[in-house]
Amino acid sequence: MHIINSPACGACQIRLLDVAQGLELSTKERAILEHAQRVVTTTMPVSMDDGSTRVFTGLRVQYNDALGPTKGGLRYHSEVDAGEVQELAFLMMLKNSLAGLPYGGGKGGITCDPKKLSTTELERLTRSFVRALGTTVGPETDIPAPDVNTGAQTMDWFVDEYEKMVGHPARAVVTGKSVSEGGSLGRDSATGRGGVYLLEKYAQEQGWSPKETTIAIQGFGNVGGWFARLAVELGFTVVAVSGSKGGVYAPEGLAKAALETALTSKTFPAGKEITNEELLALPVRVLVPSALAHQIHKYNASTVQAELVIEMANAPITVGADDILAQEKVVVIPDILANGGGVTVSYFEWVQNRAQESWEENKVNELLKKSMLDAYERVSVRRKKVGNTLRQAAYHESIERILNAERARGRV
Ligand code: NAD
Repeated sequence: MHIINSPACGACQIRLLDVAQGLELSTKERAILEHAQRVVTTTMPVSMDDGSTRVFTGLRVQYNDALGPTKGGLRYHSEVDAGEVQELAFLMMLKNSLAGLPYGGGKGGITCDPKKLSTTELERLTRSFVRALGTTVGPETDIPAPDVNTGAQTMDWFVDEYEKMVGHPARAVVTGKSVSEGGSLGRDSATGRGGVYLLEKYAQEQGWSPKETTIAIQGFGNVGGWFARLAVELGFTVVAVSGSKGGVYAPEGLAKAALETALTSKTFPAGKEITNEELLALPVRVLVPSALAHQIHKYNASTVQAELVIEMANAPITVGADDILAQEKVVVIPDILANGGGVTVSYFEWVQNRAQESWEENKVNELLKKSMLDAYERVSVRRKKVGNTLRQAAYHESIERILNAERARGRV
């Protein structure tokens, strides 16, 4: 295992320089925000089912711990590298701060193609990663969670191996576990649900009736699927959904029953077949990118016809595209605000584990709603004061809270 102080994270710097204008950061404050505190790299020889041994690389970035233990997901993907993980850890730092959680930001992953590994190989790989990370993670230090290609099963293996290593129960070392292993009710739907609370609030502010509010959703997995289902339940008109190979468009709106059937059978509801590029350019009121990063870029941003974009994926809009959308007066609810519902309920899971409690789903959803709307209110007030975009206002709110903690600790 190697622990290094990280070089400045390029993509983070660009975004920070772009949106933190007006905060008048000192050189030291900027340096703190632009560098991860710690990057842990691990090398893991793992036995394959055919008896061979393969060596995998894993990473964990602990970006900033001024507000508390670092927290963020673990992804298994062939493109996991230090630059990407640092950018995502930086975003987690901002998201956790904006949500008012007692957490710093972290992120991690293993460079691998999980589709080419068996379940037993994934289990051995996960357990090797836990041993390689050792006590650099823990309920009081750094708390991983599921992310791309990891889920409740990965977290259950993680806890089991961690507890063997430390010799005592430690469920709060990760969140996103299965409910029988200490996971929280409501975590599965939390990210999509949190986004829908913001959709509902914004529509009310604008005087949009739900029925007349047409929505296109890119990504029909956990986040996009829950967003679609809950928006339709509230009477919004979801006209398009898509996956990696394209999607469907039904201008009259997708019926709740058809959506449920599609989500259960992992298919698409009936509609005209469209590509992902066509989905982004549909004549809808609200566009909800819920799949991958960098989907709206400077070459397609001007095709967006929506009045509102809710960033449910992490970083689905590039910096260049953000400028184009702002010029076109398209309002963007930024990722660090829009998709904060997931980590908020992860925090509730951590609290329940530590208190040895198990909350009812209604309680989880009510607390989530309050947290999402409080954060939205703080960002809206800040935007009125400084007259910039919701993204800038969200960054200002978030960075100020982190720097206040840094100052209180005497680190700047
Ligand atoms: P998921 O794997 O359940 O779903 C991803 C969806 O994206 C799938 O429908 C997939 O078909 C689609 N997709 C993949 N490649 C695509 C492409 N090239 N074009 C269009 N669609 C494509 O993942 P998820 O948990 O729903 O996460 C989606 C996004 O939300 C990710 O950016 C993730 O980082 C972010 N996010 C998730 C959570 C959470 O709690 N799950 C929390 C915060 C942020």
